[in-house]
Amino acid sequence: EKDGTQGPGYAPGMALMGKYVLIGEGARGSLAKRLIAKYQLSDGREPAKFGIGLKELWQVKPEHHKPGLVQHSFGWPLDMKTGGGSFLYHLEDNQVAVGFVVHLNYKNPWLSPFEEFQRFKTHPAIKGTFEGAKRIGYGARAITEGGWQSVPKLSFPGGVLMGCAAGFVNVPRIKGSHNAVLSGMLAAEHVAQAIADGRANDELASYEAAWRATDIGKDLKTVRNVKPLWSRFGTIIGVGLGGLDMWLNTLFGFSPFGTLKHGKADYATLEPATKHQKIAYPKPDGVLTFDRLSSVFLSNTNHEENEPVHLIVGDAALQQRSEHDVFAGPSTRYCPAGVYEWVDKDGNAAADPSAKDVRFVINAQNCVHCKTCDIKDPNQNINWVPPQGGEGPVYQGM
Ligand code: SF4
Repeated sequence: EKDGTQGPGYAPGMALMGKYVLIGEGARGSLAKRLIAKYQLSDGREPAKFGIGLKELWQVKPEHHKPGLVQHSFGWPLDMKTGGGSFLYHLEDNQVAVGFVVHLNYKNPWLSPFEEFQRFKTHPAIKGTFEGAKRIGYGARAITEGGWQSVPKLSFPGGVLMGCAAGFVNVPRIKGSHNAVLSGMLAAEHVAQAIADGRANDELASYEAAWRATDIGKDLKTVRNVKPLWSRFGTIIGVGLGGLDMWLNTLFGFSPFGTLKHGKADYATLEPATKHQKIAYPKPDGVLTFDRLSSVFLSNTNHEENEPVHLIVGDAALQQRSEHDVFAGPSTRYCPAGVYEWVDKDGNAAADPSAKDVRFVINAQNCVHCKTCDIKDPNQNINWVPPQGGEGPVYQGM
């Protein structure tokens, strides 16, 4: 319970006593995060990189439905220095999934990935699909983007990382499930061999040594410079160079760039609010574009009222001094579920971001577990921990 007592549904935490424990808990997994820190698994690697993906599911009119149609884009409505792009898939039964990804190394604290996504749907090439349609689902999730050079050491005493906990997404293909499956198979083979050899609880160094020569490694190595080139040179030149680099890697196994670095971790790329122009986002119309709260409703997320807050702010004074005073509260914009607010003494959202008489409010029950705050808070001052009872979004058809 919120007061620290054991509630009626209390169950103790689970001890994982397997001979080997395989951690495949998705991007920025909370166990993986602790294991990476405890065993210094990211030493000597580039920082982990992430994007936030937002997605909606729509029931469209039959005349606007083209089963199998896939549309991808990058850039607009983002500026040319901010990485990201869209996907739009026509599914079965007149359903269309539309989504937008923003790379979390953006610099402007006024940017709102949620509002960029809403604006994206108003593009003339897109909005017709949604005429007379009904939105039926909403969700958001961080995705890994660091690839080849950011994958941490995968083995530690008694276990390994796999899937998105390792960071196997191929960014230009917007795809990671293929490598997640392959890494599960690879981990299983190494575990089976170790158990057959009578081993247990030691380090599966052979799995770490093997993955770069497998199809996962080949897949990620070919595209390793796309994200760094995009970050360095912007959408037009960077994506162009990334395409050229992929062709050279595919045809000749060679890159004139070698292996580029990603640079700073995503939390360190934000710049003070005074260095950037505030972005004026249009008001939602409630038909094609929406606000956060009506969106969160469609995620079916739920957290019991009296449970401990699962978003832990380490230092409240630092949050005010830096996140609010220097960066003008980016959590109120990067969170796709409206969890964070800076409010005035009357409890209203502070209209003036430079106001001093404000306090930080966490509406934890709205959280859709995307992990963006854990990644993007400029001081790494927010720690996402699992809420009690496995609560969170209950996505349907997403
Ligand atoms: S509180 Fe954090 S994890 Fe939850 S929805 Fe907001 S940004 Fe995502």
